[in-house]
Amino acid sequence: MLTIMAGGGPTSFWTRIWIVAGALMSLVSLGILTASAADCPGHPNALGTSRTIVIDPREHPRIGTMQYRETLPLRDHEVVLTFDDGPVPKHSNQVLDILAAECVKATFFIVGQQARANPANVRRLVADGHTVGTHTQNHPPRFDKLPVERAKQQIDDGIASTSAALTDPGAVAPFFRNPGLRRDQDIEDYLASRGIQLWSADFPADDWRHISPARVYQLAIQRLEAKGKGVLLLHDIQARTAVALPKILHELKARGYRIVHVVPATAERPATPTDPQEWQMRPPSEHVPVAHWPNIPSFVFTSTETLPAPALSDFDTPDGRPALPEHLSNPAYRAGNRVASWPRPAVAPQDDVTAELAVPSRDVFAVPEGVRVALRGAVSLPRLAGRTPMHGTPTRRAQTLGKLVAAKPAQNPAYFFAPPAANRSPQPGAKPPQATQQVRPAGRRGTSRQPMRWRPLYDNRWPV
Ligand SMILES: [Zn+2]
Repeated sequence: MLTIMAGGGPTSFWTRIWIVAGALMSLVSLGILTASAADCPGHPNALGTSRTIVIDPREHPRIGTMQYRETLPLRDHEVVLTFDDGPVPKHSNQVLDILAAECVKATFFIVGQQARANPANVRRLVADGHTVGTHTQNHPPRFDKLPVERAKQQIDDGIASTSAALTDPGAVAPFFRNPGLRRDQDIEDYLASRGIQLWSADFPADDWRHISPARVYQLAIQRLEAKGKGVLLLHDIQARTAVALPKILHELKARGYRIVHVVPATAERPATPTDPQEWQMRPPSEHVPVAHWPNIPSFVFTSTETLPAPALSDFDTPDGRPALPEHLSNPAYRAGNRVASWPRPAVAPQDDVTAELAVPSRDVFAVPEGVRVALRGAVSLPRLAGRTPMHGTPTRRAQTLGKLVAAKPAQNPAYFFAPPAANRSPQPGAKPPQATQQVRPAGRRGTSRQPMRWRPLYDNRWPV
C-alpha cells in the first residue's frame, strides 16, 4: 500500500485518499483506533483515550506489579482504568456516564451473578466500547481457599453468565481478576490453560474501604505519581468511586496522563508488537548506569622456559668480596647459632698520633698586669674608689677606669689582684674579696642622665 502511494503520479491523488480512508476505517473497525479528546463530541476538553493496545493473553498470562513480575506495556504517563464487582445499575451507570463524558475507555471485571441480574448494564459496557472481563460467579471472599474444582467452577460460571447477557458471546474478553486479588497456583494454572489472562493491578485506590471520596482521589493520584504509569484498580459499585472519578479524570488530564484502552488479540486483530522489556514496570534502560564487575581474565602462560637459580658468586661486588655481611657467610650463623652482634669496636690507627701533649709554658698564660686587673677587678674599682656610680659617656667612663687602674694597690687595701697561676691558694691573712659586680645599664645606654647600676657578677667565694 505504501509502495503505491509513494509511486503515484498526478492521477493517483484520489487513489491515495481512498487508500488512506480505507485503512483508517479498517483500523477503527478492528478497534485499534479510538476516540481522542478532540473526537469527543460535546466535550472539547475531555480526557479521551490516547491509544488502544492489543495483547495476547497466552504470551503474558499474568500482569500487574502488585503481584506479578509483568504488567501492561505502557509508556510513561499512560494509565489503564479497571473497575470490578459490577454491574450494579445505580453506581455503574454513573461511572459509565462519567467515562462517556470524557471519552475514556476502561476494562470491567464482571461478577456473574450481577451480569445475570443486570444484563442491560453488561450490554451497555460493550456498546460504550469498554472491555468486559470476568470476576467469578459469586465473588467468594476466600476464593484462594476454595477446592480447585469449585474455584474452576466459579471462573467458568462467571464467564458463562457474562456471555449470556450479550448477544455476541465473543465480546467477553479472556481477562480475569481474582476476587480480593487472592491468588492460588492451581487457579493460575487453570486460567493459563484456558488462555485467560490473569489481571492484578499496579496500584489500588482503596475505594472498597470506608474512606471518603476525597481519600479515594488522593490515593489514586499519589500512587499513580509514585509509579508514573500503570493499571489503576477501582470498583464501579461504590458510591465513593462514582463521586471521586470525575476529579480523578480531571487531574489525570491536568498532569499530562493519557488513557490507554486494552483489548484482547483475536484472529483478525493481532497483538500490538512489543518488546519483552516493555512488560516491566521499570525496564532496564541504557541510560541507567549499571555497575559491572570486570570479567576475570583468562591467563595464558605463553612461555614455560625456566632459568637456573643464581649462585652466591653472582652477587659479588666488583672487588671480589661478598656483598653480604660477614656473619651471613658464617656457617655457625647459618646453622641457627645466632647471637645479637654489637658493632665491633673500631680500632683507630695510632701511627700518626702523638701519645702525649706538650705542657704549655707559663708565658702562654701571662697577661699584662693592667689588663689582668681590668679583667678581674674593673667592676669593683668604682665601688672601691668610692666613686659610684659612674657617669658620663663610654669614653668618659673609660678614662675614669684608666685612672683607677693606674692607682697602686698599696694605696687601696681592698684592691684585689688575682693570685699567680702557679700559686692560687689564698695568702695567709688575706681577706676574701668583696662581691664583684658587673655593670649593667638600665634604660638607654650612654646617656648622662641614666646612672649605671650594679649587680653581682660573682659570688664572694675565695677563688679556687
Ligand atoms: Zn472484586
